[in-house]
Amino acid sequence: MFRTLPQESPFPYEFLGFSPKPGDLVERHGSRTVYLPLSVLLPENIPWQVTMGAPDHWSLDRVVFALHEETGSTCFYEVDESGTPTSLHLGQFLGLRKIDTYAPFEARGRTWRWYQETIRDIDQDGNEYTWTAHVCGVQDVPTLWTPAYAARSRRLKRISTAAASYADRMRRLGQEGEIERLDPQAIFERDGWICQICRTAVDPSLSWPDMWCATLDHRVPVAAGGDHTSDNVQLSHWMCNLRKGDLFLTE
Ligand SMILES: [Zn+2]
Repeated sequence: MFRTLPQESPFPYEFLGFSPKPGDLVERHGSRTVYLPLSVLLPENIPWQVTMGAPDHWSLDRVVFALHEETGSTCFYEVDESGTPTSLHLGQFLGLRKIDTYAPFEARGRTWRWYQETIRDIDQDGNEYTWTAHVCGVQDVPTLWTPAYAARSRRLKRISTAAASYADRMRRLGQEGEIERLDPQAIFERDGWICQICRTAVDPSLSWPDMWCATLDHRVPVAAGGDHTSDNVQLSHWMCNLRKGDLFLTE
């Protein structure tokens, strides 16, 4: 399933699973590709290169073809039981004429190309996965990240930025404390957005250099050999952190 959503949607497409299923239509960038089982084609309309080799090594029942509406060109590939494309790519054709794999071709006065459309997402269990489709269009398009995937990437970046800057700071202080790769945001949420020093609320919308923005405070300060671990860090206002003398900016 793949559907183009109205313009105001936070993500431009709605999709399910790992790849298009027979009957799906991928409409992107003004180009439409539909996915159909091989059985809808008359035998004389199936390029001989596609049937060659079957059924010894693979099954024709598992072949899906993608049909590009604007040019009539087709792309044949095998899918597994889940409908996910396998590595068996049977080629692209204009009518019965084979097009070099993923090479540009001319049709209706324009240059087109088959390529792999990719969307990166995370599932309900937080695992990363990729939705992939063979599509045809006038240009390649970059991999799309869903908002959930982008948020996760930002979180992972925050974690490594924080850990790296803390490691750097420890080196400069000549300390050898433990460094945990923790997400400052997760600590802020754990502490309920309440400053653990002055016990008043921290406004999540404030950012550095606002004196009242959220920072990580080390219960045992870094300079005193404190670790950068979740049990030694807490949320505090930057101001409170400064007063205490354990400054560690998160960004
Ligand atoms: Zn405070």
